[in-house]
Amino acid sequence: MITYLCIMKTKTLKKNKVNVVTLGCSKNIFDSEVMMAQLKANKFEVEHESMVDDSEIVIINTCGFIDNAKQESIDTIIRYADAKAEGLVEKVYVTGCLSERYKDDLEKEIPEVDAFFGTRDLPRLLKTLKADYKHELVGERLLTTPSHFAYFKIAEGCDRPCSFCAIPLMRGKHVSTPMEDLVQQAKGLVRNGVKELMLIAQDLTYYGLDIYKKRALAELLEKLSEVEGIEWIRLHYAYPSGFPMDVLDVMKEKNNICNYLDIPLQHGSSRILKSMRRGIDREKTEKLIEEIRSSVPSIAIRTTLIVGYPGETDEDFQEMYDWVQRSRFDRLGVFTYSHEENTHAHSLEDDVPEEVKKERADRIMELQAGISYELNQEKIGNTYRVLFDRVEGEYFIGRTEFDSPEVDNEVLVKKNDTYLRLGDFANIRITSADHYDLYGELVD
Ligand code: SF4
Repeated sequence: MITYLCIMKTKTLKKNKVNVVTLGCSKNIFDSEVMMAQLKANKFEVEHESMVDDSEIVIINTCGFIDNAKQESIDTIIRYADAKAEGLVEKVYVTGCLSERYKDDLEKEIPEVDAFFGTRDLPRLLKTLKADYKHELVGERLLTTPSHFAYFKIAEGCDRPCSFCAIPLMRGKHVSTPMEDLVQQAKGLVRNGVKELMLIAQDLTYYGLDIYKKRALAELLEKLSEVEGIEWIRLHYAYPSGFPMDVLDVMKEKNNICNYLDIPLQHGSSRILKSMRRGIDREKTEKLIEEIRSSVPSIAIRTTLIVGYPGETDEDFQEMYDWVQRSRFDRLGVFTYSHEENTHAHSLEDDVPEEVKKERADRIMELQAGISYELNQEKIGNTYRVLFDRVEGEYFIGRTEFDSPEVDNEVLVKKNDTYLRLGDFANIRITSADHYDLYGELVD
């Protein structure tokens, strides 16, 4: 992710060279990778987030989720618009969620941009570049992640009515990708060296309800786990209400499905969950987490919460705080509520002051840091299968099956007398741990 961008003037801009810049979530990364494969197949030279910017064309894939993300997208557009004015780039195109949501305003406010496109506008974007959309390439991608793992989008859009969320405004209704196409995509990724798939969607557990008229995530997992070469399959963005318990049976049965579940729960007060239109209260949420943990005892659960939602009282917050303390989630992230126009909650008063939102978010993360530290101490002496992603300073850095890239814990192994190949698995005995990192040594 590029935040402070310096565009270095190189001698000449390379004709037909495109620099793709991705902001936002893993679904945007997936979309950028699909776009890059299409561009490459149309004989464009393509780079992702090049720092040495000799590209004639820049395409910015934006995020329009909440305030901070929107601001970062706008800042990035303006930086490239300025670069264009200085002749450092020829064409600037903008796509993705911010563009989908605010196209008319953006066209007026940043006229330097050559064109704005929506989230389902790839064919039109390619046409603008005098390129064709190649249907035979569906599912093909140019990975921007390390070649041994890939985000794997199984559906687009969302049918849920969550009051605070603008995503359905930008991504539309839920559309599942047919199972046979997904299996083909997975086989293609394995041929290119991928070992780990991060399954993503707006609502993973809704998979199949549109095209198969039933929840089909478990069936999809069965099929994907049979793709030879896939070592780890990880589940992101599950939804609590109507959670398909048969997914856990497949998780238990198949060794290559990680005992890991990312399930955003959003709040710990039933009163607030009702206002959020989440279709589940705190009691049922706690019961669901208990059932998941008793079904897959070693499972690592990641969740995401929102603090400062309209009307959130000190009592509501305390209820959530106590629930987080009781639940001891393995991984947890917090957002401060963002008052998004055209969402259901926008009709409510955004009455929690920003500093109180921030203070509540800090208190939850402080609590979680302590929980994470204690849970990590329990891992000392254990040996885990670790997939190594990168080298940083004097360490090889990898993850266990309980950790997703970018957001979760990491395992650090000193380089000095150890040889590890990136993209390979190795058994590591944990020798020490802190809040979010584990330190270990290779077990021969
Ligand atoms: S499930 Fe709710 S929070 Fe998630 S994308 Fe859909 S509407 Fe938004």
